[in-house]
This record gives sequence, structure tokens and C-alpha cells, in this order.
Amino acid sequence: NQDEDKLTEYMDELEFLAFTAGATVQKRFTQKLTQPDSKTFIGSGKAQEIKEYVKENEIGTIIFDDELSPSQLKNLEKEIEVKILDRTNLILDIFAQRAQTSYARTQVELAQYQYLLPRLTRMWTHLERQKGGIGMRGPGETEIETDRRIIRDRITLLKDKLKTIDKQMATQRNNRGKVVRAALVGYTNVGKSTLMNALSKSDVFAENKLFATLDTTVRKVVIGNLPFLLTDTVGFIRKLPTQLVESFKSTLDEVREADLLIHVVDISHESFEDQVESVNNTLMEINAHQKPMIMVFNKIDDFSYDKKDEDDLTPSTKKNISLEEWTKTWMGKSKYPTVFISALTKENFPEMKKMIYDEVMKIHISRFPYND
Ligand code: GDP
Repeated sequence: NQDEDKLTEYMDELEFLAFTAGATVQKRFTQKLTQPDSKTFIGSGKAQEIKEYVKENEIGTIIFDDELSPSQLKNLEKEIEVKILDRTNLILDIFAQRAQTSYARTQVELAQYQYLLPRLTRMWTHLERQKGGIGMRGPGETEIETDRRIIRDRITLLKDKLKTIDKQMATQRNNRGKVVRAALVGYTNVGKSTLMNALSKSDVFAENKLFATLDTTVRKVVIGNLPFLLTDTVGFIRKLPTQLVESFKSTLDEVREADLLIHVVDISHESFEDQVESVNNTLMEINAHQKPMIMVFNKIDDFSYDKKDEDDLTPSTKKNISLEEWTKTWMGKSKYPTVFISALTKENFPEMKKMIYDEVMKIHISRFPYND
């Protein structure tokens, strides 16, 4: 059943996110409703079932895969009597843990305040305030009870701070001149950073340089005497909280202003097609979908679909298709140059580099038409 496969994948991803934030998942609950309950998101029977389980097993937190409205959160916490996190809160927490630069931390803090503002009256904030824990890192801890006006002032301040840094970063980008800029895009965890490292280290001449005070790294890479800038971007995930989409504008500016996109896909992931679509949608939203692009299908070393033997006449399904067959599907026939690699074992690296070289060269030539 396709719907159930999807559901399992979504729950797997949520469990992975929870794990990333430091939680262990004990049990999954699902419910089919034509529409979420406006008051409690799930139905009252399901809420009761969860409440009983929580009591019996001393569960500390319930995590929802969607963003709940402030009143749904409040009602559910009252009913189940346990701390509830939604997907947005969980992702914000992970970003808060990972933000390393002051710019990224400011962005996350802003997003957290925007999330917090309409949810100030929540119950567990009183219970959990002293304890901390997931969803309570950052601004939530001490200022949760201060009045909305103070938080609004803080939001204004953070926005101003970001605006100033944004301007500095735009200037830095302008100063990079006419060098061709490529950006790695792709769903989270597909291997962008690994590829970035492999590309910049494996080359004869590679220079590590952090151009901006953002967690995005920009490095100079040289392939066959042709230098270009390569950016690693963060933040591509299904249902990225809108607060973050807003505040991570500059991260996406790197993509918006790139000359070439290198779209990395984790081919070993069961729902990589969804991930490709999700990334393409984001590109569309920021109006970057018409840029030249190279499709890099990564992790072929970890490609786990069973290969059919030659006499097997049963039709290929997603579960038994071989890599060779994959390359004959939409992937191989994409309107973009396409390559299948492993960033780990560096399989097919020469082919990929040639592809990148050709694309960068095309852009370079269009810029300097009179050079030899
Ligand atoms: P990013 O979130 O897109 O930057 O992904 P990372 O570069 O952090 O990689 C995510 C995980 O995938 C890491 O554990 C990598 O070691 C792993 N990974 C990256 N490339 C490959 C690959 O080609 N094969 C395999 N098997 N694992 C890979």
C-alpha cells in the first residue's frame, strides 16, 4: 500500500529528527482523518489512547509531524497532560543546537520568538521551565513568561540585526566579482558537505575560505585550471517551518545568486524522488528553478535495491530495480546533465568533474566572450 509506505517514511524521518534532537522514540501513533480536528488535531479516542500509554510508560514528550495551531497545542496538553512538541518546534530546536555563527544563532532565535509569540500561555512551560530539554533551548527558557511586548521588541531588534548583516553579506557577494558561482543544493543528509570536502580537498589547488558569517561555507575549487566558487547550503527539508524559510533568506540568497546549481540526491534513500520534488519546490519558491543545473545521484555504493538476475522476467518495481535500470528511467533522461557517484568512495568522480567543468566553462565563456 503506497499511502502506508509514505506514512512509514514520514514517521522514519520524524524519528530521525527526534533522535537528532536527543530523544528516543518509544512508540508511534497514527490516525486517518479526512481533516484534522480543529480543537485537538487528533480525535478524542486517539487522544485517550495516547494518554493511557503515556501514563503507563512514563513518557515525557509527544511529538507531532505537523505544525499544530496554538490552541490545538494547548488543548492537547491539557487533555493528555504531557509536553507536546510539533514538527516546527522540533526542527527549530535542532537548528538552535547546530547554529554555530552569530548570524545563524540570530536567525534561529528570531524564528523561535516568532513561533513562541502566539503560544505564550502554554501549560508545560511552567512545568518544564526549570528542567530544560527539547524545545526549551534558547529563548524559551527564561523569557517565556515575560510579556508579549518585550518579545515583539526583541523580534524587531533581531530583524534589524539581520538586516545589517544581510547588507554586509550582499557586499561580500558583490566583491567576489565575476568568478562563476556554483551552489550545492539537495535534501538534508544527502551528502552535500561530504561532496564539498571531497571536491575542494581532492584538487591540486583548493583554498578553504569562509566568506560570510553564516553557517554556509563558500570555497574556491579548481577543476582543470578553471576556478569557481562552491557554496554548501543548509535547510532543505520537507515542511521546513515557515518561520525558518523567512529568516534563512540569506542562505537561500546564495542559491538565488548562484550561476549553477549542483543538485545532490541520495539514491539509497527510499523516498529520494519525494526529496527531489521537495527541493525543486523550494527552488521554484525562490525563483531559482531556471538556472543551469547538474543532477548528481550520490551514494551508489549504498544502493540497496536487489538486482534482478537476467532470467527474471517479472517487471521491475522500485524494490528490485538495478542501478543500471534506474539510469534508463527519468533520471537518466533528465533535461539536466546527470551523473551517478559515491562521494565516499569517489566512484565516477572524473565523470562528475568533467561535467562540472563543462558547465562552469559555458558560463565563464558567456561572461568573457573575447578571451581565448
Ligand atoms: P548533507 O546534510 O547533505 O551535507 O550530508 P552529509 O555530507 O553530512 O552526509 C550525510 C551522511 O551521508 C554522512 O553520514 C555521510 O558520511 C553519508 N554519505 C555521504 N556521501 C555518501 C556516499 O556516497 N555513500 C555513503 N554510503 N554515504 C555517504
